[in-house]
Amino acid sequence: MSHPKYPKLLEPLDLGFTTLKNRVLMGSMHTMLEEAPEGFERMAAYYGERARGQVGLIVTGGISPNDLGHALPIGEAMDNIPYAAKHKQVTKAVHDEGGKICMQILHVGRYGYTEKNVSASDTKAPISPFPARALTEEEIEFTIESYAHSAAMAQYANYDGVEIMGSEGYLINQFIAAKTNKRTDGWGGSYQNRIKFPIEIVRRTRERVGENFIIIYRLSMLDLVEGGSTWDEVVELAKEIEKVGATIINTGIGWHEARVPTIGTVVPRGGFAWVTKRMMGEVKIPLIATNRINTPEIAEKVLNDGCADMVSMARPFLADPEFVIKAMEDRGDEINTCIACNQACLDHTFTMQVCSCLVNARACHETKLNYEPTTQKKKIAVVGAGPAGLASSTLSAMRGHEVHLFEAEGEIGGQFNMAKVIPGKEDYAETIRYFNRQIELTGVNLKLNTRVTSEELLRQDFDEVILCTGVTPRKVEFPGSDDSRVLDYAQVLYHNATVGERVAIIGAGGIGFDMAEFLAHQGESPSQDVSLYMKEWGVDMDYTKGGSLAESPLPEPSAREIYLLKRSKGKHGKKLGKTTGWIHRSSLSMKKVNMIGSVVYDKFDDQGLHIQVGEEKRVLAVDNVIVCAGQEPLRDLKDDLENANVKVHLIGGANEASELDAKRAINEASYLAASI
Ligand code: NAP
Ligand code: SF4
Repeated sequence: MSHPKYPKLLEPLDLGFTTLKNRVLMGSMHTMLEEAPEGFERMAAYYGERARGQVGLIVTGGISPNDLGHALPIGEAMDNIPYAAKHKQVTKAVHDEGGKICMQILHVGRYGYTEKNVSASDTKAPISPFPARALTEEEIEFTIESYAHSAAMAQYANYDGVEIMGSEGYLINQFIAAKTNKRTDGWGGSYQNRIKFPIEIVRRTRERVGENFIIIYRLSMLDLVEGGSTWDEVVELAKEIEKVGATIINTGIGWHEARVPTIGTVVPRGGFAWVTKRMMGEVKIPLIATNRINTPEIAEKVLNDGCADMVSMARPFLADPEFVIKAMEDRGDEINTCIACNQACLDHTFTMQVCSCLVNARACHETKLNYEPTTQKKKIAVVGAGPAGLASSTLSAMRGHEVHLFEAEGEIGGQFNMAKVIPGKEDYAETIRYFNRQIELTGVNLKLNTRVTSEELLRQDFDEVILCTGVTPRKVEFPGSDDSRVLDYAQVLYHNATVGERVAIIGAGGIGFDMAEFLAHQGESPSQDVSLYMKEWGVDMDYTKGGSLAESPLPEPSAREIYLLKRSKGKHGKKLGKTTGWIHRSSLSMKKVNMIGSVVYDKFDDQGLHIQVGEEKRVLAVDNVIVCAGQEPLRDLKDDLENANVKVHLIGGANEASELDAKRAINEASYLAASI
């Protein structure tokens, strides 16, 4: 019988020789556990937990087929029995939970951060400092053989199949695109020659592994780079790949060097499903849609709209291993939703740290962080219901403690209430929804509109107090800074202060950037509207030329004239996330936000904001100045409580306001709750 709410999503998928229990693929993500000490044990726990959560099929992070295909100078290739044997720990953990798992074979080609980079031709990727040398014809033969051998090794390790990574600008894409394949031998020149490389890989892999083994081919359906494939070429390749034995085709969107954000929080939910939809009917094997699908509702809609046969989600399974089972049991409101921030996952991978998840600190730390039932029930007060207070209170209550959560405002969420109004950050509201539900489920005693005093806390005789009182916006001092037209960010984002048409923002950190984004937009946010988003970022949905890029991005004009100011020298947004900073910078540049550095603030008066930039004095004729100059911690209660010998824990912004950060706040809260 089909599921009443998600009939398509939870429908089994018959692949002939095997059946997937539903239409949900946990997409590939390199977590750096692959290289970590005790990595296999940790991966077994990580994937096993997702299998227990009933996901239909898992794909591992990418593993190189040989030593020339690594992304980093470290890493092992799936080319030998001893290494394959280690993977049996992972496959066993998944199979023990009744799940299925494929290993992704990924050769990064010129995207490596190593001096060994190879590619179709001698080229250098704009995102790697290391040039690549062209593979010789012999080496091409060897590489194809490595893919097939690697698949055989995966089969030996008891994987249910492999995914051959043919998109995102990696080696296979580098062979397919004329811009990176300048060969004059049989592997270059015409499109038919250039696609021989992936076709041979799939053909020989199928020959090697036999019929009853899943081969997913990740096909670059939208390159988003100049000189990328045309739609007809993509379809031709899909048909060839089907012919030579792929079981499923997964969708790849955009090379890593593309100028269009494809997975960031600014991308509309399900925003690229239209690409997979174009391919429906061109091949008979199942197709998978990807990118920014993060709730069961969106996933169901993608399937219901006929965009694909299956959906892939990667980051949502870091955020919540029980995504599928919660949907199955009609507990969708309990899902901890991925907010696409990249802060603890991709930003970690790109800085060579083990991944985690901003909203779920246990992700990839399943063997290290566990919330066991307490044997010693305590009465705990948590003060402040921002991210730190929400995580510490609900997790402590889940362990069996009696928890009282005090919040001065009339709602929970703290700084997330400001984040959720920024265009492109609407998903932050999901985290608040999740915690509201957790408060109900775990029985946290929530008291809103309560600015609790130390006397009250002492009177109630708590065993321990967790202070998550957060921060207050930092004030700046110059003549006129006390004018009512000089506002702080909370007045604008939380208290809806009216802002004029010409604005100067003081401080270009994360919140200064967010503020500029907020003020630049009016009406519909492009992150809510797929066509508007594609137009703004220059994606041609009609696919008139290869790569599907429009002549240029066509952003809506900014709603205001905006100056984003900072005192320090250098590029704006240098400290923003590795994988998201460029998006914020591009977005504001497209909106023609004036970014000025090396600024000295002189005064504010009826003429506007008087500044100095080097030797030059300027007056910015603005109606308002908005101060986004960081925060000061709020920890008023600490001394009184400690003087009365109460055990106090200070976490989140109240502990350390500089680099105020929800990732750190939730992480600190989670480890504290596990140990209290
Ligand atoms: P922030 O990153 O510390 O930036 C505040 C900026 O204000 C500083 O970089 C500083 O720049 C300037 N400033 C500091 N004191 C000042 C003073 N007395 N007078 C004038 N300017 C002053 O703080 P934030 O923007 O509030 O962000 C806080 C945290 O929130 C971030 O670290 C991040 O973790 C998180 N967040 C991130 C994002 C994102 O990544 N998109 C978005 C929102 C929040 P100068 O010295 O150069 O002037
Ligand atoms: Fe999603 Fe952010 Fe968690 Fe990554 S860190 S999985 S983007 S919520």
